[in-house]
Amino acid sequence: MALVEMVRCPNCGAPAERHHLPLAGQVKTECEVCDYLLILDTKTGQVIEFHAPGTDAEYLYMRRKRLFVKVMDAIAHKVLSH
Ligand SMILES: [Zn+2]
Repeated sequence: MALVEMVRCPNCGAPAERHHLPLAGQVKTECEVCDYLLILDTKTGQVIEFHAPGTDAEYLYMRRKRLFVKVMDAIAHKVLSH
């Protein structure tokens, strides 16, 4: 059983998902925008896995731009298909 909570990504501020995994004794926070990943052991509080690529401003800008283009594309297709 997993409980998913919406949180703000501590790395880029975008909405991220926090998965509570009581069976594994872990809490996993992941962000699709910047590929931030943090897995914590809830018993010991230790970091099992940590990945935060996004202090590079240009990289973040590219990610956001790509996301923006994707959204605009979807809207354009919707408009064109009607
Ligand atoms: Zn993020």
